[in-house]
Amino acid sequence: MEVLEDIKTRVFNFGQKKTDGNGSMKPLLGGKGANLAEMSLIGIPVPPGFTITTEVCTEYNELGKDAVVDMIRAEVENSISNIESIMGTEFGNKDNPLLISVRSGARVSMPGMMDTVLNLGLNDEVVIGLAQKTKNERFAWDSYRRFIQMYGGVVLGMKPKSKDDIDPFEEIMEHLKDKRDIELDTEFTIQDLKDLVYDFKDAVKKRTGQDFPTNPWDQLWGSIIAVFNSWNGNRALYYRKMHGYPSEWGTAVNVQAMVYGNMGDNSGTGVCFTRDAGTGENVFNGEYLINAQGEDVVSGVRTPQQITKMGSQRWAELAKVEEEDRAANYPSLEELMPAMYLELNSYQEKIEKHYRDMQDMEFTIEDGKLWILQTRNGKRTGSAMVKIAIDLLKEGQIDEEKALLQVEPNKLDELLHPVFDPKALKTANIIAQGLPASPGAATGQIVFFADEANKYKYTILTRIETSPEDLEGMNIAKGILTARGGMTSHAAVVARGMGKCCISGAGALKINYKARTLTVDGKEYHEGDWISLNGSTGNIIEGKVATIEPELSGEFAELMKLSDKFSTMKVRTNADTPKDARVARNFGAQGIGLTRTEHMFFEVDRIKAMREMILAETVKGRKQALQDLLPMQRNDFEGIFEAMQGLPVTIRLLDPPLHEFVPHQLSTQKDLAEEMHISLQAVKNKVAELEEFNPMLGHRGCRLGNTYPEITEMQTRAIIEAALNLKEKGIEAKPEIMVPLIGTLNEYVEQETIIRDTANKVFEERNDRIEFMVGTMIEIPRAALMADLIAERAEFFSFGTNDLTQMTFGYSRDDAGKFLPIYLEKGILKVDPFEVLDQEGVGQLIEMAIEKGRTVKPDLKVGICGEHGGEPSSVEYCYTQGMNYVSCSPFRVPIARLASAQAAIKNA
Ligand code: PEP
Ligand code: MG
Repeated sequence: MEVLEDIKTRVFNFGQKKTDGNGSMKPLLGGKGANLAEMSLIGIPVPPGFTITTEVCTEYNELGKDAVVDMIRAEVENSISNIESIMGTEFGNKDNPLLISVRSGARVSMPGMMDTVLNLGLNDEVVIGLAQKTKNERFAWDSYRRFIQMYGGVVLGMKPKSKDDIDPFEEIMEHLKDKRDIELDTEFTIQDLKDLVYDFKDAVKKRTGQDFPTNPWDQLWGSIIAVFNSWNGNRALYYRKMHGYPSEWGTAVNVQAMVYGNMGDNSGTGVCFTRDAGTGENVFNGEYLINAQGEDVVSGVRTPQQITKMGSQRWAELAKVEEEDRAANYPSLEELMPAMYLELNSYQEKIEKHYRDMQDMEFTIEDGKLWILQTRNGKRTGSAMVKIAIDLLKEGQIDEEKALLQVEPNKLDELLHPVFDPKALKTANIIAQGLPASPGAATGQIVFFADEANKYKYTILTRIETSPEDLEGMNIAKGILTARGGMTSHAAVVARGMGKCCISGAGALKINYKARTLTVDGKEYHEGDWISLNGSTGNIIEGKVATIEPELSGEFAELMKLSDKFSTMKVRTNADTPKDARVARNFGAQGIGLTRTEHMFFEVDRIKAMREMILAETVKGRKQALQDLLPMQRNDFEGIFEAMQGLPVTIRLLDPPLHEFVPHQLSTQKDLAEEMHISLQAVKNKVAELEEFNPMLGHRGCRLGNTYPEITEMQTRAIIEAALNLKEKGIEAKPEIMVPLIGTLNEYVEQETIIRDTANKVFEERNDRIEFMVGTMIEIPRAALMADLIAERAEFFSFGTNDLTQMTFGYSRDDAGKFLPIYLEKGILKVDPFEVLDQEGVGQLIEMAIEKGRTVKPDLKVGICGEHGGEPSSVEYCYTQGMNYVSCSPFRVPIARLASAQAAIKNA
């Protein structure tokens, strides 16, 4: 019987003659593979090759190497022939060899997180043929030694494991440099390179017990499998965790004809951006090196030159290089190879127009022929992201919806944080200048190793250059400073992606890792010394520098205005003080969704009255203490109402367990006893009496107001009197009084009755009235289950998803830190449910409560005030559930406004 053939395509070709995929196939072909196919389709010269799909990576993880190689062997062999026919070369042929690269490519770009092998196909015979064919023996042997080094590291596991281990290949090179008394790789003679190849192979044999593979096909399969393995390598795992990318995605493998930028002075290689990734300015820019391979540009080992003349002149100004010196020694590509530059410029224009977004491209010039190696949507800072989206909109390249969708809400955060105070900068001691690789202001203590980035609270990771291994430390540090590398070095690209302040290529810094010192102009700085980085100018400053709030740019305001045009769900803020309320209004908050009244009681002058209230033995005593608190609360509410100028303000009645307010230190207990004229023992007894096994499930929320109704009375009075006082001043106040933590209808009704009675009493006393609402939080699962009954009485629902998550999962909010990180690491949970709303589980309660509530009251006002109200994916969820508003902390208001607009567009 014939076995049914598996007809799934696992290998997709790209290049002039035959292109199987296209740009929309990122999940299957990975970002790089899909873009290579797309570029071929629109006539951009890309070296031919093929992509092995991400599905094969998943199959490899399940079935192992042999099964997968059998599955794709025929397709891979066919595709290699296809490359051979386009390039006119042959894989493994010693007279006319085809050399290839093998690279990873996940559906999203993960720069430097996975592995690559270049120059594949070389062996002792092919290298001689290559030397003859290119008439460049040095190039051939240099390529061969690079190949063995990379293959040894990536495929044969010979990379150093820790920072104390030495790369075995680097060690051999250093040894030879010492022996020959030279410093640079470029000083090696051809004989040196041949010796290195011999020694490298010897090292491979010693370490692995096997000869270096000479058969190109063995080399190819080894590399493909190594790239699949790198999907589960430490760097990739960490990066995925940081960004929340699932492991099921897998990586594709791209196999492509090599083209060489290191074939002499008519060759070169570079990286370019269609717009400025730091500021968003619409200028083509980038860096290149003559006679070099791609890794030389990004690794930061050689400081590269600029592509455009304008960029080169800007660079020279920062680097303090005179024009004459610049033009002679660091010319731009535009000046050095004008024809190549014009061709490159035409491709960058074409590619950006095609993708309608800023592109980050790599190119190589091989002996006068320009190839584009890859393009992708460029990583950018938050402010560049906003500017580029608004500019593309104004240029007519994208519409309003696309402009809004192009901005990542969480990245707006970068724009809202402090910058250096210009006054403080005037007296700052600038010790050196580097390239402004990623804007922002950072102050911290110097550390020299990525795994020590958490040695102090605020650190500046200071390195000669960074590598992908340093990722975790870069994320922890406040800022990154490197002595080498250009604007496209690893440090710069990664820092911009993280929105982290970074200065690169500060050549004046002498860093000594062993001594843990940084020397500039003869002055020595040590680990732990404070420095500051201005990522917008490249200035490195001694000591700490004061910061101020940033000014929001015109494009930011335009983006926010555009967001409001599309969003239907409102964004409120959680604010407990008039100051927070003002900040939030400036960020566009459309009301307050939660004022936690207890925060007002923690201030020094109030805590005393609060404690007296708690310690009172009688209702009369308690009322007396509350009387002292009343004017203070009323004042606060007036301030908040005034800041919100007629927008709705939800004020929640006292919520936390009383135990949080009493003194726990002996000295404070003594003070309190004295002030209240009672014995220390009486204070101690009361503190002990208030202690609970499970305070979050104990005497808190409406249980306080229901056991001590006089607290609710006082708070209601303060709210209503404040609103009436403002009315007298001609300012409208719209209070919404909120009862916390109810689980039964009666709990609510009891409180509502007190609130309404108290309000009526005040109205009578003042002979005036205002409109107000009374509603409740839904934060106990039982309240969600009983929502129809509760809606008969409550005028609004506000989901307290912090408590609702706590009680649905049964995870104590205060103790989850002990196990949640481990759950996340092990994959038991994909995300922290206190950060990202659990739509699957907690969401069921939310959906049920809204549905039940609105069957009783169709226009019941519904919002959310848990921390999830500022998290973009949760905001979208709230929109789909028909909530009227989300409420979040002031600094997240712009994020939520954009997320709300995106939700409306995506779900239109
Ligand atoms: C909540 O539980 O989601 C909430 C907003 O209240 P708190 O965090 O104050 O308990
Ligand atoms: Mg709560």
